[in-house]
Amino acid sequence: MHGDGRLTQVLDPDDKGQDECGVFGVWAPGEDVAHLTYFGLYALQHRGQESAGIATSNGEQILVYKDMGLVSQVFNEDHLRPLTGHIAVGHVRYATTGKSAWTNAQPTLGPTPFGTIALGHNGNLVNTQALMGLVREKSGEDLTGELGRGSSTDTAVMTALLGCSDEDQSLEEAAMRVLPQLKGAFSLAFMDEHTLYAARDPYGFRPLVLGRLSSGWVVASETAALDIVGASFIREIEPGELLIIDESGMRSRRFADATPRGCIFEYVYLARPDTTIAGRNVNAARNEMGRVLAREHPVEADIVIATPDSGTPAAIGYAQESGIPYAQGLVKNAYVGRTFIQPTQTMRQLGIRLKLNPLREVIAGKRIVVVDDSIVRGNTQRALVRMLREAGAAEIHIRISSPPVVWPCYFGIDFATRAELIASGLSIDQIRQSIGADSLGFMSEEGMIASTTRPESTLCTACFSGKYPMPVDHTRVAAGLDPAPEDS
Ligand code: SF4
Repeated sequence: MHGDGRLTQVLDPDDKGQDECGVFGVWAPGEDVAHLTYFGLYALQHRGQESAGIATSNGEQILVYKDMGLVSQVFNEDHLRPLTGHIAVGHVRYATTGKSAWTNAQPTLGPTPFGTIALGHNGNLVNTQALMGLVREKSGEDLTGELGRGSSTDTAVMTALLGCSDEDQSLEEAAMRVLPQLKGAFSLAFMDEHTLYAARDPYGFRPLVLGRLSSGWVVASETAALDIVGASFIREIEPGELLIIDESGMRSRRFADATPRGCIFEYVYLARPDTTIAGRNVNAARNEMGRVLAREHPVEADIVIATPDSGTPAAIGYAQESGIPYAQGLVKNAYVGRTFIQPTQTMRQLGIRLKLNPLREVIAGKRIVVVDDSIVRGNTQRALVRMLREAGAAEIHIRISSPPVVWPCYFGIDFATRAELIASGLSIDQIRQSIGADSLGFMSEEGMIASTTRPESTLCTACFSGKYPMPVDHTRVAAGLDPAPEDS
């Protein structure tokens, strides 16, 4: 979970569910794999802004460089130059388990009987304590690797488990034995000195794709990261699949049957619009969500504006379907990321303006439809409505291109505890009053699912529907606690 909630709220004012990581891996002899990974991580920056790291191998030795901050803050040419070799794994992190600290930055390093492992993880395990028990059974109290250095993440436990095997002949064999023991969401890129691996949990909660370079292979959380390094999209890594890439080529092994439940929130908010997941372009899905929203919640208004950037495709869809002109009503400062500088008290009261500022000339005197992709705590929308009224809006109609978020996520998205979710305790009209809008409309679950063009049976919709793909301890959920369910 994040450290200073107050700072987070001010500097990350969209108070949306935060994804907790992006992974990137490359196997390409003759290429500058550190630079490729750097640019791959740049394309995945939206998936995590707390820390960034790259590990490379030259076939004999793994080097890693990681630190807190954005990719552009962590790396410069001097940091990348020593990262030589033909294999690399990179990672950007948003903390959901383990605090935001250097010790928890990834790739995670660990010793194995066959060399060293460097691992990057996107997702969230739900049986970490049980896995930690397995590590202690093997290693006793004498913890090595990142656990020994004080890391507290599910990723460090997973890395230790892959490394503490005494019955396997290779990291590949260790992975085939350990991966079926992991429960929850995991899209992994990892490597030893000789081989790049990628694996995706049997539900395929988080995306993970395979791409081809003329001289090798790339794996990445999103297709947009393939585009930026000039790799062609080959296919998704299948749920329950382990890929092994080395000098003899690419091999696939299955460690579990696939029961796909891709996260629908990737389409709603998390993924980049220029990414394609399971054959559906994210921008097209969001555009369709806006069209459906316009049919489900029409209103008389003068302009449609978006909460930039993630609300933009849905706002365009709403405008197209309703015939109400689309306008840019808010300007976003694209360079406000996480920072370690505390804002002043006065700035804290201004809150959202660090990131969004209204265009008064567009707003004043108008009846405005504001399209946003989701409401989690409601803080953004409350501040936004106040800001638009101050800018002279005549009416403010909020339209949300997803249903109310009423359940926590255990699979890699940090929403909030159930008690913090505004929709878990209030009716739609109470939410409208709480944020101060003239009207409020949420998209239906059916409309959201249809917009992805995927069958409902292949999607996770749990944060909206409460239908978790795996058993969850509902008593604890209902009590407003959100510890990960153990070994469910
Ligand atoms: S609970 Fe929601 S955010 Fe979490 S994986 Fe399922 S759909 Fe995605």
